[in-house]
Amino acid sequence: MTLPATVSPLIELDEVYKIYSIGDQEVRALDGVSLKVHKGEFVAIMGPSGSGKSTLMHILGLLDAPTKGTYMLNGANVGGLEDKELARVRNREIGFVFQSYNLLPSFTAVENVELPMIYGSVKKRREKAQAALERVGLSNRMHHKPTELSGGQQQRVAIARAIATEPSVLMADEPTGNVATRQGEEIMSIFQTLNSQGMTAILVTHEPHIAQHGTRLVQVQDGKILADQLIKRRVLAEEWLAQPSNAMSTGVLDL
Ligand code: ADP
Repeated sequence: MTLPATVSPLIELDEVYKIYSIGDQEVRALDGVSLKVHKGEFVAIMGPSGSGKSTLMHILGLLDAPTKGTYMLNGANVGGLEDKELARVRNREIGFVFQSYNLLPSFTAVENVELPMIYGSVKKRREKAQAALERVGLSNRMHHKPTELSGGQQQRVAIARAIATEPSVLMADEPTGNVATRQGEEIMSIFQTLNSQGMTAILVTHEPHIAQHGTRLVQVQDGKILADQLIKRRVLAEEWLAQPSNAMSTGVLDL
């Protein structure tokens, strides 16, 4: 994607490190990561186990702080923020989806979606929760409790909860890790639809067929970015490569 130089990124990490000291050993979970994400992108972060994906996602999601390096989110340096301000920025800017849904079992779907909005004193919570559940195709499951929903449906409730306040970016750490393959595809098609409606999205996965729903693939290894490529879906890639002017081009991943 070629963007005009004047468009500033939504997310900009510059030389970010996360270093753990265990006894006299140093683990560099992130080892100098620089990354820019623009509005409207759908970035899939892939890498082997232990490569630093979750650490990167948690730093991006303001759930963890880097040891050093800067993080600019929507034009603001979020590095030096106090906990209260950090929580406020996180609430406003980021919707986060976890592998394990993290729904409260005694609450219905709509109540689970409403809950973070109560903490954030958001107005018209019920309306927003219902609209978000409709967007993920669960208008007929609003009053079901998590145990009355499939794994895929529970994850869709978690996505609704993440998008209800229309954050700047939707982030997900292995969102399909706990669900059956078909339900995983449904979840990814929801991410794709939200992205096509303008939602910026970043997800971590170790599965190539999940990553291929994104528009860009960032590969991580040993705490570093190993590769960063645009994704062209197979049919588009074939059409694109069929044009003689593109035949020699590189940098587009055909998954
Ligand atoms: P991934 O998500 O790719 O599996 P992680 O981000 O969870 O990788 O971990 C990256 C590296 O950092 C691993 O070597 C892991 O053991 C280490 N690590 C992660 N969290 C901690 C922690 N709290 N304390 C010490 N080491 C950690």
